[in-house]
Amino acid sequence: MKLAQGISTIGFRKWYERRLLTGHAHLALVLLAVLGLMMALEAANRYATQTEKWLDYGVALACALGGGWALRRYLFLLVHTESIANQADCPACKTYGRLELVAADTRQDAVRVSCRQCRHEWNIEY
Ligand SMILES: [Zn+2]
Repeated sequence: MKLAQGISTIGFRKWYERRLLTGHAHLALVLLAVLGLMMALEAANRYATQTEKWLDYGVALACALGGGWALRRYLFLLVHTESIANQADCPACKTYGRLELVAADTRQDAVRVSCRQCRHEWNIEY
């Protein structure tokens, strides 16, 4: 879910929480991929036929590629979400995360938000 859509529909704090949960789901996928990779490599050494070995190497390759993708996605979600969260403090009253969407500018990758506490407006760039 995009930032502007998230702020307007579920609020910033819920959007932030869901982004972190999504990121950590990708981390769990990385751990499963590493486990699958180790199991496939172990299985490749135990079975003697060439077909079984190549099948196990294929599974190991799929786990490595899937794990790499999941790790890349996890790191992107974490860094991107934290970068946005660091801009969620109201510059005027220092209230964190109580935002309303004023305008979304997709050309400049920024949203204009206002504080629910004091109505101060500022941009969040992503
Ligand atoms: Zn404020």
